[in-house]
Amino acid sequence: MNDFIPPAKPLIGDEERAAVDRVLRSGMIAQGPEVAAFEKEFSEHFGLGRACVAVNSGTSGLHLGLLSAGIGAGDEVIVPSFTFAATANSVALTGATPVFADIALDDFTLDPASVESFITDKTKAIMPVHLYGHPAKMPELQAVADKHGLMIFEDAAQAHGASLNGTPVGAFGVFGMFSLYPTKNMTSGEGGMVSAANDEIERNLRLYRNQGMLQQYHNEVVGLNNRMTDIHAAIGRVQLTKVDAWTKQRQDNAAFLSANLEGVIVPAVADGAVHVYHQYTIRVASDRDGLAKALKDEYNIGSGMFYPVPNHRLKTFQRDYHLANTEQAALECLSLPVHPSVSQADLERIVTAVSTLAKAGA
Ligand SMILES: *Cc1c(COP(=O)(O)O)cnc(C)c1O
Repeated sequence: MNDFIPPAKPLIGDEERAAVDRVLRSGMIAQGPEVAAFEKEFSEHFGLGRACVAVNSGTSGLHLGLLSAGIGAGDEVIVPSFTFAATANSVALTGATPVFADIALDDFTLDPASVESFITDKTKAIMPVHLYGHPAKMPELQAVADKHGLMIFEDAAQAHGASLNGTPVGAFGVFGMFSLYPTKNMTSGEGGMVSAANDEIERNLRLYRNQGMLQQYHNEVVGLNNRMTDIHAAIGRVQLTKVDAWTKQRQDNAAFLSANLEGVIVPAVADGAVHVYHQYTIRVASDRDGLAKALKDEYNIGSGMFYPVPNHRLKTFQRDYHLANTEQAALECLSLPVHPSVSQADLERIVTAVSTLAKAGA
């Protein structure tokens, strides 16, 4: 059988190994100068035009962002149900309630009309997810937020370098969080980067990251230890020099798949949007699970389902209402390998396999 095509593959090279070695030899391995440099370089690289604060995971970044914006018990934050559990978990961990709205099926991101239907007098914010690397419907969401006096927070975990009408994701909200987990578009090992809309949010992020202190023993709030290490930051700094070429490769791979796949719904890209294809997600109208199994068993091609169980159906949240598009997407979504290590021969194998299986199953 042909070699296995994995659904994701972190790329770590000699430069990352050398950078880690440099930090280890320096004897300064916790948060220090590498983290400070990474924060500046990350903001500049993605043109965010605002300060960034590095933390030990994307989930920590969301949690600290929410705390920094004053979210807590009694508040409601509207999130998509169709996302990774970290989005809603971070809201719940502040003591606030995640309220799940539906998505639009064109780009799998929050549907502004659905969001508006869930607003109550407890609603404080909307937290869209730029799912799969496609920007959420920011102008429409901003209009809803403005009408009701709400904040916008961005879960940009999957969207390093994505933009809408020239504005990079992470530059729209009160804060924007990028994950640096190994399967994301770039990594630091584990880690997260949070952009801050203003000095107060930046200061709060730095406080909550480090026990509520900016200065040793001057504790201003009850905080956590969510610091990034210099070891991780050194990896991230190297990855920043490579991520643009990887993104270009993802976009080229996606273009080939979209031009050639048959029998499935390929991902759309909104006008004015730059999609960075963290995932290349098709919709399979009938027997998605069977197609995924046959891809693996008959063609040795990996795939992923992000996400087969909507958050409002998880045991942790259990909300008894129907979100039609979310539930349809959960049944139909299938993410095909699109990462930079996928070769032209791999792409051709994927096209043949998916198109053949989709026709047989239709
Ligand atoms: C990965 C991810 C997170 C969490 O990031 P971690 O670095 O894994 O903690 C949050 N939201 C979404 C949409 C993600 O994909």
